[in-house]
Amino acid sequence: MDPPLSVTGETNESYCQADCFSRWLNSLAFNRMPDPVYLDHAATTPVRAEVLEAMMPFFGPRFGNPSSVHRWGREARTALDAARERLAHTLGAASDEVIFTSCGTEADNMALIGVWRARRASGRRAVVTTPIEHKAVLAAAHQVVKEGGEERFVVMHRVGLVDDRSFDELVTGDVAVCSVMWVNNEIGVLQDVPALAARAKASGVVFHTDAVQAFGKVMIDARATPFDVLSLSGHKIGAPKGIGALYIRRGTPIEPLMFGGTQDRGRRPGTENVAMAVGLARAAELAVAERTHEWAKLEAMRDRLEAALLARIPDAVIHGRGGPRAPHITNVSVPGVDSESMLMALDLRGVACSAGSACQSGSVSPSHVLSAIGVSPDLASAAIRLSLGILTTEACIDRVAELFPALVAKARRLTPA
Ligand code: PLP
Repeated sequence: MDPPLSVTGETNESYCQADCFSRWLNSLAFNRMPDPVYLDHAATTPVRAEVLEAMMPFFGPRFGNPSSVHRWGREARTALDAARERLAHTLGAASDEVIFTSCGTEADNMALIGVWRARRASGRRAVVTTPIEHKAVLAAAHQVVKEGGEERFVVMHRVGLVDDRSFDELVTGDVAVCSVMWVNNEIGVLQDVPALAARAKASGVVFHTDAVQAFGKVMIDARATPFDVLSLSGHKIGAPKGIGALYIRRGTPIEPLMFGGTQDRGRRPGTENVAMAVGLARAAELAVAERTHEWAKLEAMRDRLEAALLARIPDAVIHGRGGPRAPHITNVSVPGVDSESMLMALDLRGVACSAGSACQSGSVSPSHVLSAIGVSPDLASAAIRLSLGILTTEACIDRVAELFPALVAKARRLTPA
């Protein structure tokens, strides 16, 4: 039974204070509003109950350090090895091909900088990537330049796909590593990774793909697709923030980015986060098991939302719509309706989503992804990303389909053309 709540939301039992407080806050904030709608799954997802349950013992009695030789250590080692094995299985990989990282950003950095450093002495001094990558990849490519390398960016088509000719021109014998994201985090566009990986490998180039938004949506099998290195992030698939993984095909040259321990055979030193590794493995298993069903469900809801928005706002533009897309992301611009005010208006009505533009030092700069695919700065500054996932229901979609056009109409009444 719930402990009694006082008027201020306090209870005598400290362990449940946070829970009571948030329920009290919710009742104040939302009791006159319909349920809040979370459409920002590409930013992060809630931790799944099954994942939390799998992790809990490692925050309590099973607290050992996997490097210790005693029973607590051995117990932690067994759990860590099992988590690695299970995660590897979801990728069609062997367990020694998977390392745990602190996040997707670290995995991306290690893929580009680690492979480049391992190959630079052989004369392969360039990295090739796309201008629509996550900043984790773009900044890692810039770091390669600071260390004496060269970065090259392939040309993109307007729908967000890599231009094959540009790819073949740039991915040549002097390239150490090439990185192309599987699913873009702003517009959801899906690259033909199997074909690109095969073409890169024909030139002896290590092929990395950022699969942070693809895992659990796309079929990923290291036995069937010739990528060499692949990045994952836990918090996009129902594990907590602060855990990621890097798949490294056997024989791929890669240097560590950190030093000071023998963990992961020196590739990623530091005491392993056993609880998070267990959580990531569990989340990955669930995501893979539910993948086909999730795709169909999310695709139907996304299509319904897009159709409703286009029917009521005929000049709305959905970015990347002409190409292959993962089903959980839609990115829409309404000409003349600035994204920041739309986001705020949606938030006030309990709808959470994000802008397709990045806010830096108080000035809103248009998204680098939209700019790279030729979207005008005006349209890019109107972009709103709605991303669907485990919390999305048809009722959420219908509510946003109703609310969004009404807010657009209001914004247009307030801002004369
Ligand atoms: N790559 C992509 C495509 C992402 O969407 C993100 C996060 O938004 C990252 C990398 C970074 O992952 P993390 O937040 O775990 O550092």
